[in-house]
Amino acid sequence: MSQHETGYILVVEDDAAIRNLITTALELHELSFDVAENGAQALLKAVSHTPDVIVLDLGLPDMDGVEIINKVRSWSLVPIIVVSARQEDTDKVAALDAGADDYLTKPFSVDEFLARIRVALRRSQVANASVQTNAPAESSVFENGGLHIDYAAGCVLVDGQEIHLTPIEFKLLCLLARNSGKVLTHTYILKEVWGQALTSDLPSLRVFMTTLRKKIEADPAHPRYIQTHVGVGYRMMRVD
Ligand code: CA
Repeated sequence: MSQHETGYILVVEDDAAIRNLITTALELHELSFDVAENGAQALLKAVSHTPDVIVLDLGLPDMDGVEIINKVRSWSLVPIIVVSARQEDTDKVAALDAGADDYLTKPFSVDEFLARIRVALRRSQVANASVQTNAPAESSVFENGGLHIDYAAGCVLVDGQEIHLTPIEFKLLCLLARNSGKVLTHTYILKEVWGQALTSDLPSLRVFMTTLRKKIEADPAHPRYIQTHVGVGYRMMRVD
């Protein structure tokens, strides 16, 4: 059950209407999936079916979605997309801190949902391919003040300490580092990170920037590395 050609998605959602919306979209795009209606089922299927992507509702009848993320992350790096009705950024930050890769706030459009699934599947397939083929990797390293990024190894150090970034945080940081000194617009960043620029994704970008800064900045309220250009975008500053 572990080899799936186009990707196998586990949908964890207790709300039948939303579950149907999601599974109908997946069926239309010929993606294989399974569903879990509660946390216990979700954990069982995450272990036995080794999905390529997990779509996870945070509000489940038997346990909190964040608890599921913590448990799954203790053995697997499978991409997890959180689907949540909660509006507060703190819930999203908690989910991302626990190891979720991306999130969607309900109500969301089917196109938006499928775009996120494609990004997650691509990442999952890239991860599997790199393990199998051992392809020669880009060797460049970025150094800026106490920030050290090894693009190929996917590792980031701040003042000599390795920090753990989610794939989207890492993509975001690399994009800014590779364009160090330049202001990157929100549209450009959204397109590079999520593959499309939807203005509805702007709050997501802000949340990811918040979690990224918490990890790399000594004082996230007064960032040294990533400067905000209000209404425009972000820039990686040169730090001595
Ligand atoms: Ca729910």
